[in-house]
Amino acid sequence: MPAINRLSTSDADFRQRLDELLAWESVSDDAVFTTVRDILADVRRRGDAAVLEYTRRFDRREVTEAADLEIPLFRLEQALTAIPAEQRKALETAAARIRRYAERQKMDSWQYTEEDGTMLGQQVTPLDRAGLYVPGGKAAYPSSVLMNAIPAKVAGVEELIMVVPTPGGEVNELVLAAAAVAGVDRVFAVGGAQAVAALAYGTETIPAVDKIVGPGNIYVATAKRMVYGTVGIDMIAGPSEILVVCDGRTDPDWIAVDLFSQAEHDEDAQSILVSPDVQFLDRVEESMERLMAEMPRAQIIRTSLEGRGALIQVRDMDEAVEVANHIAPEHLELSVEDPEAVAARIRHAGAIFMGRYTAEALGDYCAGPNHVLPTSRTARFSSPLGVYDFQKRSSLIHCSAQGASTLGRTASTLARGEGLVAHARSAEYRIK
Ligand code: NAD
Repeated sequence: MPAINRLSTSDADFRQRLDELLAWESVSDDAVFTTVRDILADVRRRGDAAVLEYTRRFDRREVTEAADLEIPLFRLEQALTAIPAEQRKALETAAARIRRYAERQKMDSWQYTEEDGTMLGQQVTPLDRAGLYVPGGKAAYPSSVLMNAIPAKVAGVEELIMVVPTPGGEVNELVLAAAAVAGVDRVFAVGGAQAVAALAYGTETIPAVDKIVGPGNIYVATAKRMVYGTVGIDMIAGPSEILVVCDGRTDPDWIAVDLFSQAEHDEDAQSILVSPDVQFLDRVEESMERLMAEMPRAQIIRTSLEGRGALIQVRDMDEAVEVANHIAPEHLELSVEDPEAVAARIRHAGAIFMGRYTAEALGDYCAGPNHVLPTSRTARFSSPLGVYDFQKRSSLIHCSAQGASTLGRTASTLARGEGLVAHARSAEYRIK
């Protein structure tokens, strides 16, 4: 049985214990930092030659020609035709729903005219080129391809470059098929920090992009952090998390596997259940004990639950909401009678899954909203990946002659106050 932590808001040390569980040391390993810094510098200096060398070393792939780093587009179409019809249909269904949701997020340009005739506005434009990192070291993630690529396409990004490691030269057919469905423009079989470096600086064969998105291991995350500024990045994601708030009237087996579904991602993932019903917490614990035996990834689940999981007893729903807002979880399941009322009081969460039927796993694959979400309490200040991450805004100002006169006086006064004479004169020349 997983010895999951039990906490109660009535404990004197509740807040302290909760904060200890939530604490997460993000990318801060010195050895990884040094390795990644060296790889970035090397790829920047030697381009393809360095990328080829690291690919041979880390992905154990015997590749000597830079041209062989690219996976030609016809291979994507081939993969789409080759996968079982059921998988193709699932990919296409998920893609259609993700696209429909993304289309609603698109920001539009706007403008208005001030009384003096000056037109002001905001012009929205897509990025020229985006890079998409798809992890491929230990497992393959076709759903990540869809979730990262489709918003970029909907935003109107001209060229979408995907990189994916192919350990031992093995390409994952489902990942390629997903890239075909999402409309990725070019794919390179490169991974790790060397792939991030190639996308940030460009090499002879891999074009430099304007922004790099997508999840990855610690080498990828560290590299993204280091190239930020040269290119944009989406976020630095920590381990996955779920917080379930339940009134005690959902089948405890359902809740147990919902908690497992995050815990099975990796040992550092975090699954927490909050309920005012202590007997329900006991029943979920019993369910976990029974169901664990059926889980192929039991060892990972156990480690995650024992280390970072928790069952938290609260006084009532008000207190449950308070705890949820403090945790600011990546995924929040509201398994309660009136999820609308509770959701309206949630201020910090990456995605909110409402009602007893909305399993978080549905959102991971195909509900429609993005599964790339803020982790480690960053939902306090950031949002899910969306179309807006691939769009930029330019301010528009078009002064009329009268507007230039009126504004000119104000600008000149402020410029002279700052001692910037050229600024002042530039405004004053245009005063009628
Ligand atoms: P990966 O593609 O992220 O990493 C593989 C690459 O790591 C290799 O190509 C290699 O270049 C590099 N690498 C490995 N060992 C190295 C070493 N000793 N020195 C330098 N470079 C080294 O694939 P992965 O390892 O399977 O990791 C995938 C990660 O992505 C997991 O942590 C997973 O949890 C995460 N993920 C997150 C989400 C999400 O939405 N948050 C989705 C999918 C995956």
